[in-house]
Amino acid sequence: MTKQIWHLEKHEDNTATLTIDVPGQAQNTLGQAVLDGFCAQLDVLEKETPKALFIRSSKTSGFMAGADIDELSSADSEALKTLIDQGHEALKRLENLSCPTVAVIHGTCLGGGLEVALACDHRVADQTARFGFPEVQLGLHPGLGGTERFVALLEPATALQLMLTGKTIDARKARKLGLVRDAVPKRHLTAAAKAAAEAGKKTRKRGLFAELRHTVEISSPGKRFIANRARKETEKRFSKNHYPAPYALIDLFEEETGTDDALQKEARSFVALSQTQTAENLINLFLRREALKRDARRPKGHDISHVHVIGAGTMGADIAMWTAMNGYTVTLQDIDNEVIAKAIGRAHKWMDGKPDHSDDIRDPEDRLIADPKGDGVWSADLIIEAGPEKAEIKQKIYDGFKDKLKSRAIIATNTSSIRLETLAKGLPKPNAGRFVGLHFFNPVTKMPLVEIVKGETTTKETLSRALAFVESIDKLPLPVKSAPGFLVNRILTPYLLEAVKLIDEGNSAEDVDAAAEAFGMQQGPVEVADTVGLDICLEVGRVLARDLDHIDEPPQQLVEKVDAGDLGKKSGQGFYTWKDGEPQKEESQATEQQLESLQKRLLDPLLEEVRRVLDEGIVASEDHLDLGAVFGSGFAPFRGGPCTYMRQRKAPSSEETPDEPAEPSEA
Ligand code: NAD
Repeated sequence: MTKQIWHLEKHEDNTATLTIDVPGQAQNTLGQAVLDGFCAQLDVLEKETPKALFIRSSKTSGFMAGADIDELSSADSEALKTLIDQGHEALKRLENLSCPTVAVIHGTCLGGGLEVALACDHRVADQTARFGFPEVQLGLHPGLGGTERFVALLEPATALQLMLTGKTIDARKARKLGLVRDAVPKRHLTAAAKAAAEAGKKTRKRGLFAELRHTVEISSPGKRFIANRARKETEKRFSKNHYPAPYALIDLFEEETGTDDALQKEARSFVALSQTQTAENLINLFLRREALKRDARRPKGHDISHVHVIGAGTMGADIAMWTAMNGYTVTLQDIDNEVIAKAIGRAHKWMDGKPDHSDDIRDPEDRLIADPKGDGVWSADLIIEAGPEKAEIKQKIYDGFKDKLKSRAIIATNTSSIRLETLAKGLPKPNAGRFVGLHFFNPVTKMPLVEIVKGETTTKETLSRALAFVESIDKLPLPVKSAPGFLVNRILTPYLLEAVKLIDEGNSAEDVDAAAEAFGMQQGPVEVADTVGLDICLEVGRVLARDLDHIDEPPQQLVEKVDAGDLGKKSGQGFYTWKDGEPQKEESQATEQQLESLQKRLLDPLLEEVRRVLDEGIVASEDHLDLGAVFGSGFAPFRGGPCTYMRQRKAPSSEETPDEPAEPSEA
């Protein structure tokens, strides 16, 4: 088994290449077997040390994607500590090899994979490489020496910032930050690796100014200053109770970086974090998200290469831009030429400088084509309609193109509230089978979820091609049944309307938002309503009240606001006054008790709706519901979603103080 994972090849010039290829996986991940195999290779390399060692991956997906999360989530704290200690030992041995070592990187190089690369003397990358430490998103921080070696290599403040945000950077940026020695086109990668090896053991030299800056930043006062600033920034985004990992990371940075105990302390902190409810919930979300993506991929492919988008307004413009950025040819149609021109101009600005990971030799800008006459329909494999939310207009659009379609073309609508069955009425039979809802959320670039709506006429084949397509554009495709509000608007709207009712009853918008944020919602409901647009909330509220007996008509205050033109962020005035895209809020003065009672009022309708949605089979499982709620509506991620929350609330062992890291068991 271990021999299959690592392959050591000796070259004529007495250098050697150690190649990783974890069998049966699309990406290399680090687990016990990989580590055992690596240690066995180190035994050989320590005895017969080559002139230089290159470490690379033979997977097309990249170097290494990080830890094996399945294995990590099932290990108890003792097993995990043993694994981490073994990992630290192995990376120290790699670092101490007497020959120069070079990580030769393409594609993903994340988490534990980046930690392996950091233990090498040099790193060289091609233009497909992406680097990052996504651990905080799983309620953890780097655990294999990353907190120490990353800070030692980069500007300390930048390294801390990257670990705290979990952001990935491309090869060009990595080169600029000094993470890699060279970022070169694929064809020059081997030559760059050889040149690095010839430079000998670690040779990174900073310029005088950079060296001085590093010395200052890594001094005790420097670290304290950076840590305090980072804590302030982190407090704005995460509460320590809900998300202990970033705070633990900042503490490590301030107290341990550069000390003899640094690696030991990192390991203890990592293991303690891994035992928190937050890490358990975030890791479960990650695994469920990966499973949903895996289910969506099809061995047969989806046969879509050209996408035609109709309607270049708020949604259509961004759907077209996102799809082109992800490698597809996109034609964009609207009845208003000026709208198309604006959409394309905005897209070019957004695309500028962003790395293009597709195999297409054209630039993303060239893949997005203005198409005022709608000629793209003839050759499109997928048509996405994002016209106004009026059934008559949408049906008229379908009438206009239904005779021009390719025989397998999928017709998709981005409607948020109109029943698919109503829209499909005018479509002839074979087309109706290829009719599906692709419900993107606003803003498209930021919202990871897309609801894939199966109407009564949608065939299985269409559904599965739609799922595979959405997965291929780096979105999370959630299959839902055609029903009022689908999943996300259905569970979100009663909660938003309850927030308005609470304001009607005399509570301040700030108190209502503070209550939801104290629970862990990413944004309070009043701010969400103002951001989405009060007119849209009112419309969705009315549709749900019309179609579902148990939902009341929207509160009067919402109607009055919309009548007065106070639509929220877009008009500058809603429940809040908006300036420069920010709501002008007062500090909430509510007591803890008041916040708790507001929380209950807000959550009850949401959780009630969740139970109904499950009973009605609108989503396939509780896992799907949790994913939809977290990635589509901003439900507190550390709680794992509403179903997980309800289960854990009932469980006697998971009371309301689950999130402080457990005290480390040994020094
Ligand atoms: P929008 O009004 O911004 O854009 C609609 C565009 O369609 C306009 O540019 C208009 O000129 C164009 N149009 C009108 N008639 C047309 C025709 N016959 N042929 C071609 N183009 C035509 O609307 P939007 O906010 O982008 O919403 C589009 C769809 O997406 C709606 O179904 C809406 O419910 C849904 N949606 C909107 C949001 C949101 O937050 N805005 C979120 C999710 C889904």
